[in-house]
Amino acid sequence: MKILMVIVDGMADRSVDGTTPLKSARTPNLDLLSEMGINGIMDTIRPGIRPGSDTAHLSILGYDPFQYYTGRGPIEACGAGIEVRPGDIAFRVNFATVEGDGSVFDKRVVDRRAGRIQDKEELVKAVNEGVKLEGIELILGNASGHRAALVLRGGNLSDRITDSDPKSEGDKVKRVVALEPEAEHTARVVNEFIERSHAILDSHPLNEERAKNGLPKANVLLLRGVGKAVHVPKFHERYGMRMAVIAGTTLIKGIGRLVGADVIENERFTGSKNTDLDLKVKTALKSLETLDFVLLHIKAPDEFGHDGDFEGKKDFIEKVDSAFEAFTSLNFSEICLTVLSDHTTPVSVKDHTADPVPVMIVCEGVRRDDVKHFNEFSVYRGGLCRIKGMDLMNILLDLTGKSKKFGA
Ligand SMILES: [Zn+2]
Repeated sequence: MKILMVIVDGMADRSVDGTTPLKSARTPNLDLLSEMGINGIMDTIRPGIRPGSDTAHLSILGYDPFQYYTGRGPIEACGAGIEVRPGDIAFRVNFATVEGDGSVFDKRVVDRRAGRIQDKEELVKAVNEGVKLEGIELILGNASGHRAALVLRGGNLSDRITDSDPKSEGDKVKRVVALEPEAEHTARVVNEFIERSHAILDSHPLNEERAKNGLPKANVLLLRGVGKAVHVPKFHERYGMRMAVIAGTTLIKGIGRLVGADVIENERFTGSKNTDLDLKVKTALKSLETLDFVLLHIKAPDEFGHDGDFEGKKDFIEKVDSAFEAFTSLNFSEICLTVLSDHTTPVSVKDHTADPVPVMIVCEGVRRDDVKHFNEFSVYRGGLCRIKGMDLMNILLDLTGKSKKFGA
């Protein structure tokens, strides 16, 4: 039996006047699936721990985030298509605009997103070819919009250093500082990288042209989210299943690449409100013809949560539900379906909270419960009761006949 895991990011919510976007949305397909399966609530990490999307996804895939999560940098770098190796240090990067005189660290950030620059492949190439650091290999990877990722390799690098991103406009680029004596060499190297890349970017013809056209120059790289990459066992080695990831979000693609999944790219998978839901669902079902495990990720409900937009979240969940009609006619003796949220993003909080999320599993042989509606208020009465994210893969492996017996 194959497994289709559908994660609707931040879909779960807290109660607003006794209801939630998911509860008040019209979701006939989710409700039907709920009725056909077993339901429950899940603490994606542990009760009371507020998950990030990255740590939540690791946990749901059975990778203990306390062991494998070393910061957002390595995951973003994987998402940007860089092959990250154990011992590398990796950063999230923003192309930004600085103005002023003197060293790059004397200049002020006037636009943290360099006018939301899109075409920056030339700039990425110029940095990769032009910046030389003694004994250190550097790889700058392009990502969507103003984003990129940086990997530094070799020479006993440490991730015990601070960010260079001041996080607010009008402030100076921050000099990276070592948080312990062993990291001083790394801090020096990173500061050198920031200076040299700034020199190359500032005088690059593409930036000269941007300036001429009144656009902000993409002339500095702001670094944050540093992490040291560790060895992560591949999904197919761990579970004997080949995995595909269908997502528009770099972070989730990064998780997929980190565990060795096939990440299926399509420009219509945007990781935002304009994503092509039907195409995503179709691609997931198609992928299941050749692969054993498919993770389908839908991002937008989380964005509505962060925006505090109850109605927007509810409406989008209804769109998601329509796209899920295709799941109601799956052959559940061949495919085990699980639908869940990676964390709660309440519109009242506009950020992730630790409230457990709804989860359902539909497959042949599963002990169906009495739950008839897929929402935060009904699923806790279901047969799964309250589980942890790290339990989910074990439960799915058991239901699909892939689990090894513990003992005689
Ligand atoms: Zn999330």
